[in-house]
Amino acid sequence: MYRKNLALVAHDNRKKDLIEWVKFNRDRLSKHKLICTGTTGHMVEEMTGLSVKTLKSGPLGGDQQMGALIVEGKIDMLIFFWDPMQPQPHDVDVKALLRISSLYNIPTACNRSTADFIISSILFESSYVPIRESFDDYLNRNL
Ligand code: PGA
Repeated sequence: MYRKNLALVAHDNRKKDLIEWVKFNRDRLSKHKLICTGTTGHMVEEMTGLSVKTLKSGPLGGDQQMGALIVEGKIDMLIFFWDPMQPQPHDVDVKALLRISSLYNIPTACNRSTADFIISSILFESSYVPIRESFDDYLNRNL
């Protein structure tokens, strides 16, 4: 079994959903390392008993910390239940996190059904390494 670094983030209106999902998948998730933004992480710990590495709260820079971990190759997967019905004070950070997860080709679930597909994939327990672009064309562009 390959231990993955799983990032869990949920906006306030989606936290209940995420906690339910974590409880439902508790056994499977307990074999991996969980990294969460602040409030999400405290709730996951308190309500599921799983241990979690917590970053700052999302609006206080936690989303940016998560993005930096992705850039450093320290996150294998992002489960991000963002709220499509509510404006967020840190909207730009949310967008940045989703952009960076896409850029680095990290499996990303923005809703529960996608999270279900990801966690039930045979790749979930494997040593799957996403293909990463070299970005050579970008880095060597003529200026
Ligand atoms: P929170 O942050 O877990 O601290 O509530 C979530 C978010 O990124 O909005």
